[in-house]
Amino acid sequence: MGRHTGAVCRLCRREKDKLYLKGDRCYSDKCAVVRHAYPPGEHGQARQKFSEYGQQLREKQKARRIYGVMERQFRRYFKEADRRRGVTGEILLQLLESRLDNVVFRMGMARSRAEARQLINHGHFQVNGRKVDIPSYLTKVGDVVAVRENRKSKPVFKLIAEDRGKQGTVDWLESDLEKFEGKVIRIPQRDEIDVPVTEHFIVELYSR
Ligand code: SF4
Repeated sequence: MGRHTGAVCRLCRREKDKLYLKGDRCYSDKCAVVRHAYPPGEHGQARQKFSEYGQQLREKQKARRIYGVMERQFRRYFKEADRRRGVTGEILLQLLESRLDNVVFRMGMARSRAEARQLINHGHFQVNGRKVDIPSYLTKVGDVVAVRENRKSKPVFKLIAEDRGKQGTVDWLESDLEKFEGKVIRIPQRDEIDVPVTEHFIVELYSR
């Protein structure tokens, strides 16, 4: 399956949950999940009952959609999480959280993960002083993420600065939005990852 290019609010409505894919609009009462709290399509309002497999699949799709990751890459994250010692589901979410696009979003230097991906792709960011234009780059504890000096005056960053903090801050990251710079302090614990995903369903799905 390729990247979704249609209306992203449909993805939230499909999952019947806010996935915060659009930035500003997600925090307003214009949010499609607030206005139409049922899945899209002709049978959206019909009662839905999922099989065990269906439920596992929905959780996996939800996680993929929140982080904007394609199926093949998502499976790679799972393999890596499975290989590491510890609780596979939690490690999977920690890997997803450490992606540069997610870290930029969590630091408040973008209003959504999609915007973070675009800004990174355009070469606006650096990690430890070196330009990084790969949104899937996995950050490590101690990494310093910043907007490159000659890009800070771009109008988009002025808009982001005006909107700062809408998505809230997290304790495992430090960020200074005056300087457009932040640091990864530690790896987040599960209860610090506020995504509406039941990760053990994903583990069960891939362990079939
Ligand atoms: Fe759309 Fe954001 Fe609401 Fe999702 S959370 S339905 S992306 S406005």
